[in-house]
Amino acid sequence: MEQVRVTIWNEHIHERTEPAVAAIYPDGIHGAIAAALGAMDGLEVRTATLADPEHGLTDAVLAATDTLVWWGHVAHDQVADAVVDRVQAAVLGGMGLVVLHSGHESRIFRRLMGTTCSLRWRESGEHERLWNLRPDHPVLAGIGDAVELAEEEMYGEPFAIPDPDELLMIGWFPGGEVFRSLCTWTRGAGRIVYLQPGHETHPTYHHPDIQRIIGNACRWAAPRIRGAAPTSLNAQPREPRTAPSTGDA
Ligand code: ZN
Repeated sequence: MEQVRVTIWNEHIHERTEPAVAAIYPDGIHGAIAAALGAMDGLEVRTATLADPEHGLTDAVLAATDTLVWWGHVAHDQVADAVVDRVQAAVLGGMGLVVLHSGHESRIFRRLMGTTCSLRWRESGEHERLWNLRPDHPVLAGIGDAVELAEEEMYGEPFAIPDPDELLMIGWFPGGEVFRSLCTWTRGAGRIVYLQPGHETHPTYHHPDIQRIIGNACRWAAPRIRGAAPTSLNAQPREPRTAPSTGDA
């Protein structure tokens, strides 16, 4: 099987400024996800962060990325226009994109969705139950009826997204809210996955089921045929031209 080349992008701010977050993710959220995915078959993993030159997302890095994973929260506005444009072009050209948690309001996700992507939220560390709606779907391979998270930020509907191509999980919270927690879309030749859990003060990315879903999503969203996206072309006729009839006998 061909290796899927994954780049995990993280703004990497909470882990450097909040000791409680650093205690959960001493190597950063990107580091925790990279360690988990790097141990899975068929995934080749690298990381990039906001502070890197060009946020670590140069043309060369994107050209060598099959699926990009995105975690951001407080620094969405610090992501440069050129990088948003470049990532959008890469997705339209076939690169996969897996957007996590508060990445729902990232510039790249909103650009690709075309909507505000707003939602209801509450930071109170409630239990979340994520129902598996599609046990037949590759992104949920190996996942049981439900994933139980002991603590997570509440995200609730209405979630201002375009209707997903596929709705794979619904999250339920004890406050009564529900949420479309795992969704897919296609934009151009690129597959996009959104996964809701992953607030920085909870150990969500250490949960084996969440790690498995992210790994599955990276494989599923990767381009099926690299470099096969359509492009503009001034086309020549495929048949010989015939002179138009004048109507004279
Ligand atoms: Zn959050």
